[in-house]
Amino acid sequence: MLPHMHLSQRVTALKPSATLAVDAKVKALLTAGVDVIGFGAGEPDFDTPENIKQAAAQALAAGRTKYAPTQGDPEARAAIADKLRRENGIECTADHILISVGGKHSIYLALQSLLDPPAPAAPHAPGAKPQQVILPTPAWVSYRPMIELAGGEAVELPGAVENDFKITPAQLERAITSRTAAIIINSPSNPCGTMYSPDELRALGRVLEAREDIVIITDEIYEKLIYGEPSAVSPLAPLKHLSLGSLPALAQRVITINGMSKAYAMTGWRIGYACAPGSNGAVIRAMTKLQGQMTSNITSFCYPAIVEALKHGAAEVERMRSAFAKRAALIYELISAMPGVVCPRPTGAFYVFPDISAYFGCQARGGKTIDSALSFAEALLDEARVAVVPGEDFGECARNHVRLSFACSEKTIEEGCRRMSEWLRAIKPAAAAVPKRKPQMQADAR
Ligand code: PLP
Repeated sequence: MLPHMHLSQRVTALKPSATLAVDAKVKALLTAGVDVIGFGAGEPDFDTPENIKQAAAQALAAGRTKYAPTQGDPEARAAIADKLRRENGIECTADHILISVGGKHSIYLALQSLLDPPAPAAPHAPGAKPQQVILPTPAWVSYRPMIELAGGEAVELPGAVENDFKITPAQLERAITSRTAAIIINSPSNPCGTMYSPDELRALGRVLEAREDIVIITDEIYEKLIYGEPSAVSPLAPLKHLSLGSLPALAQRVITINGMSKAYAMTGWRIGYACAPGSNGAVIRAMTKLQGQMTSNITSFCYPAIVEALKHGAAEVERMRSAFAKRAALIYELISAMPGVVCPRPTGAFYVFPDISAYFGCQARGGKTIDSALSFAEALLDEARVAVVPGEDFGECARNHVRLSFACSEKTIEEGCRRMSEWLRAIKPAAAAVPKRKPQMQADAR
């Protein structure tokens, strides 16, 4: 018999990423020659702009193949600090920046640097309670596991679908306890596809002003992918993004997370960064120390690509953003026309997150009972060959939803929505479950 290898509790209890699982399933089906429409991917379908690729290719050809400083190449950090000062109004220098293997790892390093696991309890004594991290939900699937890996407790704060999934200052105030150590704010949001207005963020900021020990982690990875109302007056006028790190009352305890993946179509490069000017960069030094024992620096010849993207990437970002804006309007129109499906208008990132609970308790055309977002997504994939991500892993309040990514062509959106509508028409929503209210549009909520 083979020896049994023990796996840690930490890893055994960990849930695999739901979004990566859907993506892997779609790729396997495509490889097997199945005609499947994938709305699962959380990455732009565009290739990385040529000038950015060239910057890395030239650095590779010139022999930038050795270890680099753990915190990141100084020139790339300076370019990031310059971008954050100019575009986001965050007072910082290159010393306050850490470059890591994706925004995901920056968040992981931040949480590991901020949180202590509860002290081990003496036998028979109740252990100390964990520090809490407030998580407005629906939220990206990786926040909760990363909070828990750091020994913290995720406290979900559900945003109402009628309010574009945004939490209110009163809700935040009620959620803060003596154990609150941090909050994670993600705007524009994955999976919601909606975003907070600057005024809404300032209002949340005012609640946080009173508690100087709470760290604010703001994940701004989708900041460049924001869309306006496709109205006659202004077809694609973007909304405004606000960085909480630019507010003087909060700046010292904000950790801003961003990266190259989404805005520059560089998901596979694995480049993200964190900025934390507070306490003279103490958090960045802690995160750097940790990174030094984990991954060291990112791939050395990628640093010049960061500088190229930040200094000369704006036109390409705008080209991709405006394509996403058209897709956002298209998918919103098609999904809103589906009977029983309620969907806030997408205003940022590249997702829609409709409520499909009107179909709970019904039978899909292949005979499968739909009783959850997961069974809805499974039946949709099996019977109509359309892949969406079920809402369960985005938080308790997301159980009635599925996520569709519109990082795919307009033709794919049209065909996927055609298949989905046809499949839904064969089901008939349960009348009692049809959500009564259409959510407000972003324009009304602003
Ligand atoms: N934050 C959010 C909200 C995301 O959706 C993602 C990726 O899906 C990330 C962070 C991490 O991106 P990366 O690690 O590619 O920089």
